[in-house]
Formats: sequence, structure tokens, C-alpha cells
Amino acid sequence: MTTFRIHPVSCPSCGHRFEVEIAHGLHLTRLPTIRERLIDGSFQVYACPACRESALYEATVVYTDFERGEYVAAETPSSASWQTALSRHQTVFRDCFESGPPIAQEMGAKFKRRVVFGFRALREKLVLWDAGLDDRIVEAVKGDLLAEEGESPSGVVLRIARVLDGGHLLFAAYAPVQLPDDLPADQPRVVVHRAPHDFLTAPAARYAARAAEPSAIARDYPWLHDDWFVDLHDGPSYLYR
Ligand SMILES: [Zn+2]
Repeated sequence: MTTFRIHPVSCPSCGHRFEVEIAHGLHLTRLPTIRERLIDGSFQVYACPACRESALYEATVVYTDFERGEYVAAETPSSASWQTALSRHQTVFRDCFESGPPIAQEMGAKFKRRVVFGFRALREKLVLWDAGLDDRIVEAVKGDLLAEEGESPSGVVLRIARVLDGGHLLFAAYAPVQLPDDLPADQPRVVVHRAPHDFLTAPAARYAARAAEPSAIARDYPWLHDDWFVDLHDGPSYLYR
């Protein structure tokens, strides 16, 4: 079910208190425009009624698209550790699909299942899948790029900006998210727009080379065997550093 709730928030620029509408579940089959807004970055971006400054109000949400077979649980960086998030969403998924009637089981088996932190990571999955790309291979390509640049995935966060003509991957580079200590997990997280500090491009040939050798991915990025966390920057990838 698609559910929205009203949350009181404070404007990050002027402190004005107002209310915003926050989604708790997004079932896209009946809401195709939300997918477009997630991709163009306008989803849950609200302007302050006093000073007109816009910010993104990000909260936990489960995104499902039955037609495309997409199930993405988006946490905020303050809502849970990756271990807690993983076990929570595995339980929900099991209760909804795997332990359900045969029709639910059949549906569940078709889903690509992911847990991500933040809307930028959610957007990345949708953009890659739209382009017909495998997000596991893209994570391996990102890891290769960062290693070449002498950077670590805990120091620089790469997210797809665009898939260019010819299938080349344009990544935007961001600083890792810094969290305030006092943010309650159930409150929307206010994200003030920051431009990426850099862009990196991976040629399509690099993706093709990684795609041709799955055993090399398993060797270099063993955490990519997990189908829930397919993210260089979050989740079990940390166990291998
Ligand atoms: Zn304001």
C-alpha cells in the first residue's frame, strides 16, 4: 500500500517550522510519476514557506514495483545499522512473500531485492535497472575506479549520475554522509542539496570486461554475493576491508 504521513519539520536555512508529506510505503504499479520524481531528484523536496529554500526530506521507505520486479528498502543513514536493516527487511519480505500463499511466493521470487541507505542510492538502482545494467557489476566497476584513483569507498561515495550514450557510466563523487548524533531514527532526515565534488567516467568496455568474468568479481568483491546489499559503500562490503 502507498501511505503518506504528515511530519513537522524545521527549515534548515531559517528554522521555520512547517509540515511535509512523507511516504512510508511506495507501490509504484499505480504511481509511475513517483518513479520519475525519484530519478529526477524532486521527490520529497519541499520549499520552506517562509524563506523558499528547498531541501530534501528523506525517510525510510519500501519501494516496490511489481511490474518491473523491483523491491528496494531505503533506510536513512540514521535509521538503522546495516545488520539491523538487513534482518528487518528479510523478515518483512519472508512474511509478505516467501511464507505467503503460492501467488505471493511466485511474485516474491521475481523481485530484485535490495536494501539501500538514502534516496541517492535508491535512485541509482532505478537508473541502472532502467538502462538494463546489472547493479552488481556496476559496484565492481566503481570499486575498480576508486582503487585506481587511490581512494577508499569509505572516503569517497560514487553514485551514478547518468548512463551516457554508448553505455559509458558517469559517476558523481560525494563526501560520505556525516550524521548529527541527536537525530531520532523516526524523523525525516533533512538533506540540503550539495553538488558532487567530482565526476568520474567508466567506459562501457570496462563494464563489459567485468560482466564477462563473474568469477573475478566473486574473487575481488566477495560481498557482492549478497542479493540484499549490493553497495560498495554500505552493508557487508565493510566486513572485507
Ligand atoms: Zn526557511
